[in-house]
Amino acid sequence: GGLIEVKGAAKSYGSTPALTGVDLRIEPGRFAVLLGPSGSGKSTLLRSIAGIERLDSGSISLNGTTVSSASMNVPPERRDLGMVFQDYALWPHMTVAQNVGYALRRRKLRSAAATMLITEMLERVGLTGKASSYPPELSGGQQQRVSLARALVGRPSLILFDEPLSNLDADLRERLRLEISTLTRETGASALYITHDQSEAFALADEIGVLREGTLEQYGRPE
Ligand code: ADP
Ligand code: ADP
Repeated sequence: GGLIEVKGAAKSYGSTPALTGVDLRIEPGRFAVLLGPSGSGKSTLLRSIAGIERLDSGSISLNGTTVSSASMNVPPERRDLGMVFQDYALWPHMTVAQNVGYALRRRKLRSAAATMLITEMLERVGLTGKASSYPPELSGGQQQRVSLARALVGRPSLILFDEPLSNLDADLRERLRLEISTLTRETGASALYITHDQSEAFALADEIGVLREGTLEQYGRPE
């Protein structure tokens, strides 16, 4: 798992403050959830940790290495992390196997080794037989499973989840929540999961933080 340290993270979009000085430390292997209403800065913080967004000030380090500061930004693909988005973010013109394999493209793997990892991962998320399908042919739940497989297949030390269940119906939300929890914990990765859904947060979290107006108000064990 990976250690996440955020220090004094601040960011505004024009005159709109999104983060106003967030300090956060997540120990390796923890499943952390950030809860907060829409507009509280959850997504900005997650995207900054991913390297998709740049901070105005403050810093982020992963596994003891600074990856974000006001003067530098390590690109997402060099942060040893996987990410799962609310809208799946799959390439529609690539097969399921190609989408999952995309996360391995920087590894110098023989194609047989890559195929084995992809096949294994698809089996783990219950999509055996869908390797050659295209995302638009799949249900929302299946697409999110592909996205989960893509995030996990490279065994990154950190997995980031951006409201991954918000587009799914209640039944599926509960099942996928369990799969996300089980599979992520199995890899030993640290997880940071953002949601506005309190019951989801409490069901998943080892540790919960509450974000309000760009500030982290509390952080600790659910109880
Ligand atoms: P959350 O994920 O909790 O809904 P966000 O991080 O998306 O919160 O947004 C925090 C604040 O930043 C909000 O006021 C939002 O409107 C603003 N914001 C987020 N992204 C942008 C953007 N790309 N351009 C302008 N304002 C943005
Ligand atoms: P580059 O040539 O710079 O590596 P890519 O073609 O890999 O660019 O990616 C283009 C954009 O699409 C990037 O912003 C990347 O984060 C995003 N992206 C990468 N992989 C996927 C994916 N499987 N589905 C959706 N978006 C992706």
